[in-house]
Amino acid sequence: TGSDIRTAATSTAAISTTDAGTTAPGELAGLTAIVTGGASGIGLATSRLLAARGARVAVLDLNADGLPEGLTGFTTDVTSRESVDAAVAAVAEWAGGIDIVINNAGVSAIGTVEANGDDDWRRVLDINVIGVARVSAAALPWLRRSAHAAIVNTCSVAASNGIPDRALYSASKGAVLALTYGMAVDHVRDGVRVNCVRPGTVDTPFVSNYLKRYDDPAAERAALDARQPTGRMVTPEEVAHAIAYLASPFASSTTGTALDVDGGLTTLRIRPL
Ligand code: NAD
Repeated sequence: TGSDIRTAATSTAAISTTDAGTTAPGELAGLTAIVTGGASGIGLATSRLLAARGARVAVLDLNADGLPEGLTGFTTDVTSRESVDAAVAAVAEWAGGIDIVINNAGVSAIGTVEANGDDDWRRVLDINVIGVARVSAAALPWLRRSAHAAIVNTCSVAASNGIPDRALYSASKGAVLALTYGMAVDHVRDGVRVNCVRPGTVDTPFVSNYLKRYDDPAAERAALDARQPTGRMVTPEEVAHAIAYLASPFASSTTGTALDVDGGLTTLRIRPL
């Protein structure tokens, strides 16, 4: 209930928004963060980084067992409102409040509109788009009571680039981008910032599993590296640092933005020498 929330929200940040460097960049001591999909890839790297910066980190994932030390798992399916509501309530009870939500759980989808059926559309949009809305809605009553509230959504370069065989996935991430803008304006006066990162091709199980469909995954991986302007895929840690910045009080005047972490994939037009 509302009164439970008022009495239980006790989190306080140890940082000043005018700090000019006396605190480690991105210091998150005293803040509680939820990371969905935090058991693997970008989410796991982000969870570890937020914990290293001093945050209490709750990982909400289908597989929340066997997490590294310092991370606390809450088994959650972001496609179920019941599961999400229960997990968010459990986190709030565990930590006394919620300051940061990283909406990162997501799945890939391959195929054209002719190849993907209604079930594919419903499944992917349910996880990638409605999942973001469900977790945000459940956490907002807590975020409003935080002095340093932030939501960071994991979008993708697919939101704003035509990528072959990714119509459904791109549509889901386009929706995440629009949702970021919509939530940012709706909650700016609540003191809740909402931003997203747009990763390019990141070397995670998401990509390794995709490469298994090829006869020679190693050759395909090398080709994928070569297609990046930088000559290599993005690391999960590089995305984690961008997320941690947007989530931190140092980004206190940044809301409604998309930060590209794509090795230049979206804007650089280079040809192999
Ligand atoms: P990953 O497959 O390594 O991790 C995804 C995590 O989400 C897993 O731990 C999985 O258990 C969890 N998850 C899946 N469905 C869930 C559900 N219904 N409820 C709760 N948890 C669920 O993937 P990743 O590469 O780290 O991707 C993370 C995010 O980054 C996704 O949103 C993805 O779309 C996005 N992204 C990835 C790349 C990339 O190249 N890897 C690029 C751009 C964006």
